[in-house]
Amino acid sequence: MKRVLITGAAGFIGSHLCDRFIKEGMYVIGMDNLITGDLKNIQHLFSHPHFEFHQHDVTKFVHIPNHLDYILHFASPASPIDYLKIPIQTLKVSSLGTHNLLGLARVKKARILIASTSEVYGDPLVHPQTEDYYGNVNAIGPRGVYDEAKRFQESLTMAYHTFHGLETRIVRIFNTYGPRMRVNDGRVIPAFMGQILRNEPLTVFGDGNQTRSFCYIDDQIEGIFRLLMSDYHLPVNIGNPEEITINEFVKEIAQLAGKEVEIVNKPLPVNDPLQRKPDISLAIQLLNWEPKVGRSEGLKLTFDYFKSLSSEELNKEAHKDFSKYIY
Ligand code: NAD
Ligand code: UDP
Repeated sequence: MKRVLITGAAGFIGSHLCDRFIKEGMYVIGMDNLITGDLKNIQHLFSHPHFEFHQHDVTKFVHIPNHLDYILHFASPASPIDYLKIPIQTLKVSSLGTHNLLGLARVKKARILIASTSEVYGDPLVHPQTEDYYGNVNAIGPRGVYDEAKRFQESLTMAYHTFHGLETRIVRIFNTYGPRMRVNDGRVIPAFMGQILRNEPLTVFGDGNQTRSFCYIDDQIEGIFRLLMSDYHLPVNIGNPEEITINEFVKEIAQLAGKEVEIVNKPLPVNDPLQRKPDISLAIQLLNWEPKVGRSEGLKLTFDYFKSLSSEELNKEAHKDFSKYIY
């Protein structure tokens, strides 16, 4: 039986990856320190005979007995608000954490896929973003802790590939959404949906003319799976190229909820990218992959999830208390 280690397993994407690899008939070892994740995302797997969970911080030495075929490194805060609150942990998980996992992959002779991000392109001057674009990142700006850690992660992974001949894969994930996002993680889709359900005004940052391109989780998981199984070691963009401004997005969400919404404008966060859209030609050609779930369908599925939350969960104080993880 193939054995796979998934870090960030209790988070949004990691938990969906666990489901997918279990469905593929593999033995899944989930690892997470729960800093931004939640065990409820994987509790349905605890009784599964092919699943085990290790509560562990991957910036510390990672020990896994027996063999491993695949490692997927998805541990890292991913919401701008999270990584601004825990900047040092964010830097450490994609640098020290990635180093530990690459070392583990080497010992186990496992193939490793690391989760990179469209943030490696920063506030892009090339549009849409192709994999050969070097990016426009402010290393010392507030987002630098995430962007530079992810860029370092890519460099380290390439070095293990070229120097040690390790089998590596790098996915550059563009904004992905769906059930199991934390309602108060600050990212725009959970933020707007939570605000609508609590009858609060929607917080639009800046003038709302900045763009994003949102990919539904099922499409993202399919792209990641195909990349892992491919023989391509250079970075590949996985995302949905349907681009929309935040202002247009407010209208779509209001229509979905069937409600008039009030808007409050807040300052645009420093270095918030003004436009973002993946060029996915490489993924189409290499993986025969394209997103299948349109925004209206994906948003409905996501809104249904947020509607199913208890009012206690919906009203949880805006951000997680990270204090017990700070060291
Ligand atoms: P998430 O916050 O839901 O999940 C991240 C998980 O990693 C959490 O469960 C958290 O507890 C865990 N974690 C963080 N630091 C850890 C550590 N030191 N040791 C062990 N576990 C740790 O975020 P997500 O949206 O699921 O993102 C998962 C990965 O995908 C991240 O690497 C992120 O950078 C990448 N990504 C996501 C998106 C997106 O749109 N969702 C876009 C680009 C990249
Ligand atoms: N945004 C917003 N209101 C919010 C949260 C986010 O207008 O309450 C904007 C944010 O400024 C950015 C876009 O929505 O331009 C996407 O933000 P998110 O945090 O989801 O992800 P990012 O792509 O910036 O990492």
